Amino acid sequence: MTPPNQITHKSALTQWLWLWLGLILIALGGGVAFNLHLEHDRTSVREQDRLSTQARVIAENMESQLASANRVLEDIRGDRLFLKSSSGLQAETLRLKALTNAMQGIRYISILDENGTLLASNQSAYIGNNFSYRNYFQTVKRHPSPDTLYVSPPFKSVLGSYVINLSRMIPGPRGEFAGIVTATLDPDYFKTLMTSVLYTPDMWDSIGHGDGLLFLMVPEREGMSGKNLAQPGSFFTRHRDSGKVAEVLTGTVYATNEVRMMAQHTVYSSTLKMDKPLIVAVSRDLDTIFQAWRRDVVAQTVLFGLIVIVSILGLYAYQRRQQLFERQANEAASALQQSAERLQLATDASSVGVWDYEIETDELVWDDSMYAIYGIDKATVTSLYEAWHSSLLPEDQVKEAAALEAAITQGTPYAPRFRIHRSDGELRDIQARARVYFNAAGKPVRMVGTNEDITERQQRESALQESEEKFRSTFDAAAIGMALVNREGRFMQVNDSLCRIVGYTQTELQQKTFQDITHPDDLEADLALLKELTAGTRASYQMEKRYFHKEGSIIWILLSGSAVRNSAGEILYFVAQIQDITERKALLDTLELQASQDFLTGLSNRRHFMEQGEVELARAQRHNNTLSLFMLDIDHFKTINDTYGHKAGDVVLQKLSDILRETLRTVDVIGRIGGEEFAVLLPDTDLQEAIEVAERLRQVVAGADVMREAGLPLHFTVSIGVTTLKEKSVNLDILLSLADQALYEAKATGRNKVCVAG
Ligand code: GH3
Ligand code: MG
Ligand code: MG
Repeated sequence: MTPPNQITHKSALTQWLWLWLGLILIALGGGVAFNLHLEHDRTSVREQDRLSTQARVIAENMESQLASANRVLEDIRGDRLFLKSSSGLQAETLRLKALTNAMQGIRYISILDENGTLLASNQSAYIGNNFSYRNYFQTVKRHPSPDTLYVSPPFKSVLGSYVINLSRMIPGPRGEFAGIVTATLDPDYFKTLMTSVLYTPDMWDSIGHGDGLLFLMVPEREGMSGKNLAQPGSFFTRHRDSGKVAEVLTGTVYATNEVRMMAQHTVYSSTLKMDKPLIVAVSRDLDTIFQAWRRDVVAQTVLFGLIVIVSILGLYAYQRRQQLFERQANEAASALQQSAERLQLATDASSVGVWDYEIETDELVWDDSMYAIYGIDKATVTSLYEAWHSSLLPEDQVKEAAALEAAITQGTPYAPRFRIHRSDGELRDIQARARVYFNAAGKPVRMVGTNEDITERQQRESALQESEEKFRSTFDAAAIGMALVNREGRFMQVNDSLCRIVGYTQTELQQKTFQDITHPDDLEADLALLKELTAGTRASYQMEKRYFHKEGSIIWILLSGSAVRNSAGEILYFVAQIQDITERKALLDTLELQASQDFLTGLSNRRHFMEQGEVELARAQRHNNTLSLFMLDIDHFKTINDTYGHKAGDVVLQKLSDILRETLRTVDVIGRIGGEEFAVLLPDTDLQEAIEVAERLRQVVAGADVMREAGLPLHFTVSIGVTTLKEKSVNLDILLSLADQALYEAKATGRNKVCVAG
């Protein structure tokens, strides 16, 4: 379901982004590193330039000092003849003093003879002292050359400070060695010069002698002067051996064991013919030089690190979001594809075809379902539009054209139904639906829509409609009341019969529930049955119950209830069939009455008397009440019948019945229990009272006239047996037989009398 090409495309894009980010970061990092490297170089070169300049300044200054010292030495050498006399010596001393005062860089000027004895000096205290042991004297004596300017290695002077002497040989008359004239360089002067070029606190500079001994270092450090720098690999050695005048070296300095950048400059003037050069060195602490640069490195590295982190996080977040989008897009795409597939399946399987119609050109495009619906062969059809149009029934062509016209001009939905003749001759019903597409100018250009073969559906629909109609007519015309009741009990549909039964109109009933019109005493039973119906424990139920008629009277109905369920088994509604049984109920009541009554006299028959008697007896026993019973029989009734006829006998029976009803209380139960035998039950009556009642009754009967159709009224008498309830266990049959015994006694002892059971 997922379109794999899309996923690969997307993840490839993300991979490209990562690659690009990587490249950009590498380039940026490279740029930063390169720039820092350049900056390092620039810093280095700048510093080298500065240091070299400072070294050159010192060197040039020294050279000019050396040159002027040399000139002074040459002058003095030329005038040495004055030294023979004491006045000459005095004058020479004065001259030397004046010269040393004038020349800032020179502390002493001395003249020594060939033995090293000081002949003259601005420092006259030492005249006559021998200095032949000094290196500066020895060197010249050993290698005498009148042209050479001898530069002595630094040595500790008599005053304790390290000094250098510049010397020239004094040639004798034959050019032999005749002493030296020597100038002692003033270290203090050079200190001032060297201090002036130091531009940062970490700097120091120095002057060394060509043989390797350190003359001066500024700022001064203990034990540095006189130190031999001519060590293998030392900056001094490397520079001296390189033959270069000026050079900058970086690394560990031998003399101080510090890591430094050092500019060295050789002071060696060829015109002066110096026997040894002097070497000026100016140096800086390497760490300090690159301090600012290192800060840059840290700052730019941190910045770059931040850029890396931010961009990676950014791309990661972007990627996550893209992935989310992708997932959603894929889900949407797969959902779309699924729905498209479903639609395809639906259109394949069902009778829906899709079409596309270019209005201007009449060009019509169909999918396969369309061809199937119309039964048109895709391969052979030339003009699809023609083929389609001629399929339509002529009268429906007009209908379709009208729908099309309305859709295009008025924008009404295009949804006509029409019939077609398939190529196989079958007539089919088609439901068309389409949408019209308009161009920017509002002109209809295209229609896309569907055709559905609704033939079967229509058949089904009409069949359904038919059955519904059938049901409806049955429902409406049914002789018995019918109702569709919803789950809440409301009448959804009722027929006329029901309306007649309950006296409401259809509309009135539809606003009521069956609960509204059901007698409260019957509701509970009905709801209980309905509950069973709903639960499915019974399929239908029947019950007799009472409704209230609209007029307020109670009507009896016979209800048959059943439920209609949908395919899922849920109840849609209940069907109630309602018969009015009010009349039948009344008839039944009459029949029931008839069954318990004696037809001739209207008194209870034997069965009914026994029923009522049992009830009364039980009540008396329950409440411990008194109760008495008569048995009564007409005397010589056979004779009455025989004499006056059977009919007259019936009249006598009726007369006796009337007397019984009139004489006795309504609570007394009277029954005709045999042909001319009667029984009377007297509740709350003891024996004495019963005897009195019986006696009175006997007298009333004896005095009564029974009218005849013709002739004189006749008279008759009765015998009565009386008994009363004595033991609780006594039942009605025993009481009756006791009374019967008493009656028998009355008959036997003369009739027309009351006897009591013994
Ligand atoms: P006794 O004084 O001993 O009771 O004498 P009797 O003639 O009354 O005797 P009995 O009680 O045996 O008589 C019952 C008569 O009642 C017999 C019968 O013909 C008559 N009889 C029973 N039922 C009816 C009736 O419904 N109508 C009429 N006319 N006569 C009836
Ligand atoms: Mg009898
Ligand atoms: Mg009798």
